Amino acid sequence: MCFVEIVVLAGGTGGARFLRGVRAAAPEAGITVVVNTGDDVTMHGLRICPDLDTVMYTLGGGIDEERGWGRAGESWTVKAELAAYDADPSWFGLGDRDLATHLIRTRMLDAGYPLSAVTTALAERWQPGVTLLPMSDQRVETHVVVPDPDTGRQRAIHFQEWWVRLRAAPDPSAFVQVGVDAALPGPGVTEAFAAADAVLLAPSNPVVSIGTILGVPGIRAALLGSPARIVGISPIVGGAVVRGMADRCLPALGIEVSAEGVGRHYGARSDGGLLDTWLVAPDDAADVGGVDVRRVPLLMNSPEATANLARAALDAAGV
Ligand code: GDP
Ligand code: CA
Repeated sequence: MCFVEIVVLAGGTGGARFLRGVRAAAPEAGITVVVNTGDDVTMHGLRICPDLDTVMYTLGGGIDEERGWGRAGESWTVKAELAAYDADPSWFGLGDRDLATHLIRTRMLDAGYPLSAVTTALAERWQPGVTLLPMSDQRVETHVVVPDPDTGRQRAIHFQEWWVRLRAAPDPSAFVQVGVDAALPGPGVTEAFAAADAVLLAPSNPVVSIGTILGVPGIRAALLGSPARIVGISPIVGGAVVRGMADRCLPALGIEVSAEGVGRHYGARSDGGLLDTWLVAPDDAADVGGVDVRRVPLLMNSPEATANLARAALDAAGV
């Protein structure tokens, strides 16, 4: 195989797992990951980048596999001490090991380094085997419009508050990317699309992971301008999410919770949408006009299954 450049758009858990498969399926390839930073938030004075850390820890061998986020072998002494002070927010867990990452990130950001440079510095330790690019160096924070429990009036809250504290229970009516108008693609992002031999949309949340990345001005155009084929992998199998609560996000945008619904939402590249190829599970039907729909096993429940899925995506991209 000659040297190929693969670009993957990814959120946290689904994206990170898929990337392990891409790395295994194409060990010689250059892999660049454009990661969602819309979940980012500041708590206890620390800058938290959940999806970047999930990808970095997963590929670097530091992830807690069971939980899917944070560090393996974690302890929670600082969290308990903060709770003893009644320090808000008590609902967000940062483990003791994980705190070191956040102290370094915050210190570097405060010193004026952009998030992209901080991400590269943190990855020096973890050696994820891929180039990690935040979608943007500017702050873009996803907010969710939900009814206020007391007044019933619609109000926007940070995505993390809805997702973690409220367990995504209140019905969202909209997702808003605060700060997106002033955001630019992160350094290297548009260049990566231009140089790509394959572009893959990981089986990540179509709304608050992939959708957020595509909302950054310039990214969608750069993606569509890529000479590579664009292959998407459905995060929905048999009409349900595999893990997590993405099914709470799709209806707010009028997207049916099915492989077909998400495929149609992404749309055919030949028709102003994104996809050349859409991978769905063997038992799922998806009629997406203008898109080459292929059925392949989509469950990433072993390293082999995950690598086979990535190989199918790369085959579809022609690399
Ligand atoms: P988050 O940022 O941690 O929410 O993670 P992502 O946005 O990257 O991925 C979340 C999505 O991954 C969910 O919609 C899941 O359905 C999907 N997912 C998780 N495991 C699998 C799997 O084994 N196969 C597929 N196809 N999707 C998966
Ligand atoms: Ca996320």
